[in-house]
Amino acid sequence: MYDLLIIGAGSSGSAIAARASENPNLNILLIEAGPDYADTSTTPQDITNSHNNSYTAHDWGLNYNPTQYRTSPFPRGRVTGGSSSVNTTIALRGTPEDYDEWADLGNDAWSWKEVLPAFNRLERDLDYGDKAYHGDAGPVSIRRYPDAELLPAHQAFLASAGQLGYDDCPDANDPTGSGAGPQPMNKLGRLRISSALAYLAPARLRPNLTIRAKTHVRRLLIKNRVCIGIEVENSAGQTEQLFARTIVLSAGAIMSPAILMRSGLGPAAQLSKLSIPVVEDIPAVGQNLSDHPALSVVANVKSGVNINHDDPIIQTILRYTCAGSNKRNDLQIEQLSFAGRRQDPPRFAIAGVVEYQYGRGEIRLASADPMVNPIIDNRFCEDSRDASRLVTCLQDILRFTQSGPLADMIDSVVFPDPARGFDAASLDTLVRKFSASGYHPCGTVKMGPKEDPGAVVDQFGCCHTIDNLVVADASIMPFVPRANTNLTCIMIGEKIGEWLRQSPARYGL
Ligand SMILES: Cc1cc2nc3c(=O)[nH]c(=O)nc-3n(C[C@H](O)[C@H](O)[C@H](O)COP(=O)(O)OP(=O)(O)OC[C@H]3O[C@@H](n4cnc5c(N)ncnc54)[C@H](O)[C@@H]3O)c2cc1C
Repeated sequence: MYDLLIIGAGSSGSAIAARASENPNLNILLIEAGPDYADTSTTPQDITNSHNNSYTAHDWGLNYNPTQYRTSPFPRGRVTGGSSSVNTTIALRGTPEDYDEWADLGNDAWSWKEVLPAFNRLERDLDYGDKAYHGDAGPVSIRRYPDAELLPAHQAFLASAGQLGYDDCPDANDPTGSGAGPQPMNKLGRLRISSALAYLAPARLRPNLTIRAKTHVRRLLIKNRVCIGIEVENSAGQTEQLFARTIVLSAGAIMSPAILMRSGLGPAAQLSKLSIPVVEDIPAVGQNLSDHPALSVVANVKSGVNINHDDPIIQTILRYTCAGSNKRNDLQIEQLSFAGRRQDPPRFAIAGVVEYQYGRGEIRLASADPMVNPIIDNRFCEDSRDASRLVTCLQDILRFTQSGPLADMIDSVVFPDPARGFDAASLDTLVRKFSASGYHPCGTVKMGPKEDPGAVVDQFGCCHTIDNLVVADASIMPFVPRANTNLTCIMIGEKIGEWLRQSPARYGL
């Protein structure tokens, strides 16, 4: 019998395990479906190598439907560190306005003023650690490529951005910042600073923290509206039950709602169809899927321009506001160092991303079988406000390809097909069909006050209808912030971990 059992050693779960285990009175079990690598010398290269994402070796093998016209693979990390162990290491915070909007929805503990100390605590910013809005002593090291280390395409991208009139932004995490500059990244040299490395490496030495890897959570055990434990399939393939006073679900925005639904907590009609006994009808579970719709312009480069698939895939960023929008920094443009397969003609891509999303999708179970992955329907760009801003973003990107230092490197644009034209109507058709995920799913177990029918947990992560059950990961965000989501997930882990450490009684401990 543990005090605390955490499901999922990802960006949030690792931070929670580390912070909560600072309280020596809490006996904690951290469960992870994937493998655990205790030190970097035994960690496979796809996990340590920050130059590109790891897509298959430590992955859940999910598929998703970004739009009703397409299905494609949807990567999610299945290893300690979770998706932070396989990701691009972009270390960006949302805009202060995102968190203030969360607070306005009835979550006053998540305003910018309230989340900033956790953002500062999690980082060791090697460039701006002395600023009031940065930290210099946290577990996650963050740096930006200096000019001398920028690849020619990234130097050209920043030079073109200047010529096109975008502001220079040396620190994209400056809360007032906007414009083009180096990307803040949680990497040291080539080494990806995952949450496993940042949080679990030091915490695993504590006698009150046990990490159990290769253990797949099948469902929660609920008795008289109290969560008392979990049922797992262990590494030997046997079913086992584990018990704790409080369970924290940190399996991410896809798997957390799936585990809740498999446990009978979800939309009753959907569960009944799959013959899952309904424990509590919670229609909001799996709804409100929020993410960043994205589409890239792809260009073949001129002969003599070196494209190397082993280079860091990203180094720079442009955060800016769409013409006519009242949401600051609601668009992102990212220069990618290479695109396509190694055997393709040398090419790179420039990604356009809608950062403030209006549309919503949903997660549904395909089966009651815990080994069957859920269905992910994003419905990207069905909301015209998202479609029109992605169209504008693509048109803004195309200007980079027409004149200036970046255009000088380009032989031809190969996507979108120039023969179809780049007018708004043609691009609108394209984004509604081909927009894809920035891999930032959020919102599927939304936090909010009890009166909000869309809220499953309160602002401390406690489930409204089941006692001793806490949810803490990307799924509790009311909506995706205007930034890549890893730092915000770690911030969630920092806050809820700290509350568990300092005020265990709030969580039934
Ligand atoms: C390819 C890729 C690139 C990305 N690039 C960036 C980037 O550069 N910057 C950025 O900010 N964000 C990026 N993201 C997004 C970011 O990594 C995620 O938003 C963040 O890691 C999610 O944190 P989480 O704690 O919610 O979930 P995760 O980190 O995904 O953690 C969930 C954990 O739960 C475990 N789990 C799930 N189900 C079960 C089960 N049934 N039993 C036991 N364990 C289970 C998983 O294995 C996993 O370890 C990227 C994501 C991907 C996939």
